[in-house]
Amino acid sequence: MPFSSLGLSDPLLSAIADAGYSTPSPIQSQAIPAVLKGSDVLAAAQTGTGKTAGFTLPILHRLSQKNYSKNRPVRALILTPTRELAAQIGESVNKYGVHLHPRLKSEVVFGGVKINPQISRLKSGIDILIATPGRLLDLVNQRAVKLDQVETLILDEADRMLDMGFIRDIRKIISFLPKKRQNLLFSATFSSDIRKLTTGLLVNPIKIEVAARNTAAELVDQVAYLVDKTSKTQLLCHLIKKYDWQQVLVFTTTKHGANRLTEKLNKVDINAAAIHGNKSQGARTKALAGFKTGNLRVLVATDVAARGIDINLLPHVVNFELPRAPEDYVHRIGRTGRAGEEGEAISLVSHDEYKTLRMIEKLIGKEIQREQIEGFETAKIAPPVPPKQPRKPRPRRNTNQAKSNQPRKNTKSTHR
Ligand code: AMP
Repeated sequence: MPFSSLGLSDPLLSAIADAGYSTPSPIQSQAIPAVLKGSDVLAAAQTGTGKTAGFTLPILHRLSQKNYSKNRPVRALILTPTRELAAQIGESVNKYGVHLHPRLKSEVVFGGVKINPQISRLKSGIDILIATPGRLLDLVNQRAVKLDQVETLILDEADRMLDMGFIRDIRKIISFLPKKRQNLLFSATFSSDIRKLTTGLLVNPIKIEVAARNTAAELVDQVAYLVDKTSKTQLLCHLIKKYDWQQVLVFTTTKHGANRLTEKLNKVDINAAAIHGNKSQGARTKALAGFKTGNLRVLVATDVAARGIDINLLPHVVNFELPRAPEDYVHRIGRTGRAGEEGEAISLVSHDEYKTLRMIEKLIGKEIQREQIEGFETAKIAPPVPPKQPRKPRPRRNTNQAKSNQPRKNTKSTHR
């Protein structure tokens, strides 16, 4: 099904062509007509499925069909859990709306930066507001923005917003909205809290489920290198240098751990930066920009900070430590293998993490092949289930980023 059959206007189709998308992703082919119709939507979709365009395009279409009033009240409100995600949605809104005439105005607001510039930017009126819940409430309380003309509310990554404790803020924000409006809720998982939130919020929603929850787990080539805890840093340096990885996202469980690892990498001339909650917004934006342009080779991130990072064709994700919550593993590896591309997720697993590894495997319903790297073998092997088949070497991808993405050599399986 081509994009042109979904009912989007020509300026939007041109922007889609500019972005280089040839066919809608499954979530887009279902969500776009539903949102255009004005229905409420409940979508089970993870990052990487193309969900952002799935709601951004039809909203731009609907808003651009109507003349805006002089004072340009907020007509579409997008709530997201993190600053990075908010910024990325803002970029998408600009990208897809570039050919609209007249242009729609959008603004991104999030905490951790000064509020006054946001207040002045909001003064001239905004059609689409993208916000994290806490900062939006501050702005509403300071009467910098009114939400009584909102026609569409979008809750993006609703599960994460609840995990991060935003439920009360969200409910408060909803109380400022007109009763009659369109509601779209996107979430990767459906806990009882999410179900509670959807009841009473969504009216006869069109339900969309594009793929099983763990699709990323199927797309991504995964391996666990068994290694002693004390050798993890050296092993990471070895892998980066040996395979000449140019763009690798590394996860640690703590902010402190992220800082420590970053320092060690920089000491051996591997250009790295950390992003986590203690970093200023400026530092996070700078690190992400450097990583995207290729100036920064390694981005070390904690789970919350990395949520929503959108980088096309990210070839390598490394779990320096396994996440405490197995579900975070799925989010982490979702950073690679995006939009149907293959990716590679490598976990450096020490003895104390074997139990977590097994929990992850249970969640994804798949065994992760365990391997050891010559020179970094651990004596403490308790390999659980042997894989059924040896892993096939993956073909090289035809992108610059992927030029170093070769099958691992000099590895030996621990299962005999
Ligand atoms: P999202 O799930 O919204 O974070 O999008 C994941 C990535 O897929 C983004 O980098 C988009 O630019 C890209 N993308 C979105 N829609 C399409 C499409 N129809 N074809 C190819 N790539 C897409």
